[in-house]
Amino acid sequence: MTPLRRPLVIAVDGPAASGKGTVAEGLARHYGLPYLDTGTLYRAVALGVLSAGRDPRDAEPARQVARLLDPGLIDLVAIRSPDVGAAASIVAAHPAVRTALHDLQTRFAAQPEGAVLDGRDIGTVIAPDAVAKLFVTAAPEVRAERRLKQHIAAGRPVTREAVLADILERDARDSGRDMAPLTPAADSVLLDTTHLTIEAAADAARRIVEAARDRA
Ligand code: C5P
Repeated sequence: MTPLRRPLVIAVDGPAASGKGTVAEGLARHYGLPYLDTGTLYRAVALGVLSAGRDPRDAEPARQVARLLDPGLIDLVAIRSPDVGAAASIVAAHPAVRTALHDLQTRFAAQPEGAVLDGRDIGTVIAPDAVAKLFVTAAPEVRAERRLKQHIAAGRPVTREAVLADILERDARDSGRDMAPLTPAADSVLLDTTHLTIEAAADAARRIVEAARDRA
């Protein structure tokens, strides 16, 4: 008899524009699993705070937006703007915001067939028992170049210097915060996409998941 397999929960973490979203989406498609980009939650909170004319550095308005998060905000193109990205990493440092968004994410991860989630703390906090954990990185200059292309394609006026500065600032804020900082889970596998095409990164990611699955 074939032994029962655990639900295939895949945690994909990493810094901004590392390729983790592309890798995670590809894995979700490959395994036919539901996918959640958890960065959209923090971005939606940031957009809600900014739209209300509040300061993202203030924890209380951000907590209130997070508690009553309007799922419609997640689909808005506006959450992809550089201003919202920067504000997202500010609201994400408030413990009350992380707590308010916690259950939604753990429920998503607990679906019977499994799920793929990407973010900063999936392998460490949201799904510590995930079958496979990937930590996706790339050199900051390469990440900035990728993000620049996305902004240009979306018609957003940004400079290369500003994008790189924003990425470095976000790395520092995401890695330096007290609660759930960006850090690889001890049992995660590092996937450096600096010199990889999208296809090569997708192949490498699948191999990592298959190896983890064999061990599970
Ligand atoms: O992944 P993305 O760049 O869209 O995330 C926006 C911001 O949301 C990040 O800079 C980070 O501060 C925050 N975030 C987080 N934890 C997650 C996902 C995103 O703190 N799981």
